[in-house]
Amino acid sequence: MFELQDAFARKFHYLRLSVTDVCNFRCQYCLPDGYRPDGRKSFLSLDEIRHITRAFAAMGTNKVRITGGEPSMRRDFTDIIETVASTPGIRKVATTTNGYRMAERVADWRSAGLDAINVSVDSLDPRMFHQITGQNRFHEVMAGIDAAFTAGFEQVKVNTVLMRGLNDGELGQFLAWIKSNPIQLRFIELMQTGEMDELFERHHVRGAAIKEKLLEAGWQQKVRAHNDGPAEVFWHADYVGEIGLIMPYARDFCASCNRLRVSALGKLHLCLFGEYGVDLRDLLQNEGQQAALQRRLREALADKKATHFLHEGHSGMTPHLASIGG
Ligand code: SAM
Repeated sequence: MFELQDAFARKFHYLRLSVTDVCNFRCQYCLPDGYRPDGRKSFLSLDEIRHITRAFAAMGTNKVRITGGEPSMRRDFTDIIETVASTPGIRKVATTTNGYRMAERVADWRSAGLDAINVSVDSLDPRMFHQITGQNRFHEVMAGIDAAFTAGFEQVKVNTVLMRGLNDGELGQFLAWIKSNPIQLRFIELMQTGEMDELFERHHVRGAAIKEKLLEAGWQQKVRAHNDGPAEVFWHADYVGEIGLIMPYARDFCASCNRLRVSALGKLHLCLFGEYGVDLRDLLQNEGQQAALQRRLREALADKKATHFLHEGHSGMTPHLASIGG
């Protein structure tokens, strides 16, 4: 079997698969004006999703994260989970969601084969949550997290983008929240994308500053396993929850890159901040195309670069993360 491996000996057992660009939230750093429908776009069908997943699994992928846009806006989201989960070789199916549909649906998702959930919660203050996301749905999202535990998920990961002047004063509240809850709280550094103007300069908070505060307060960094991906994870004996720091601007961030992305339009993206996507769609139309699809993936991977060059002020062609499944 040819494994997905690049010229820098990084192996890619993890696929982030976007299933829609549509999102109902208007996060200030992502889609501040909301999603603008484009009638010409058609997102991957269930069959196309099946063909992609099979090809990746045949090349060693064992984990798939279903993302977007907001993946749960797909009416067939539960079928998508089932399709991915039933693909031979796939051992872990995860999703990243804004959580608005979790309270009512998460038990079905689990029955369909979902193993892990990341929910985005940018503030524990309902008004600030509304201000950042454009949606007054804080209580629904929190009820969704409770429902995930009730449905049997042992841990829920929460993504929080810390922003100066907005939610960066909430570190204490976030810590209190995870004291007795099995939540891995992941602070993601704000990343500069193509459509951002001065928002980045105004709100970017360095993850390193949070790391210092955590270490001072007795948090300890977990040793990273070789295939762990780029989050630095911290634990504390007094807390049930953990903290993850995702610092894309840190040196060596890309050395632990273990993921490839396919957009909802069927393009392979070698990097969140890459310049172009490799179109796969013509090879997703029937099972007989799998060998050709795998060949295209192998050839494309030879081009993966060592790093994203974000630290040089380069944000690639990605207008916002909803467009290729952040
Ligand atoms: N709709 C889903 C959600 O809200 O989680 C999945 C897609 S969303 C693009 C995935 C994650 O990317 C969210 O946690 C969001 O906060 C994060 N994100 C989006 N734009 C970002 C940016 N410019 N910098 C850092 N994180 C960003």
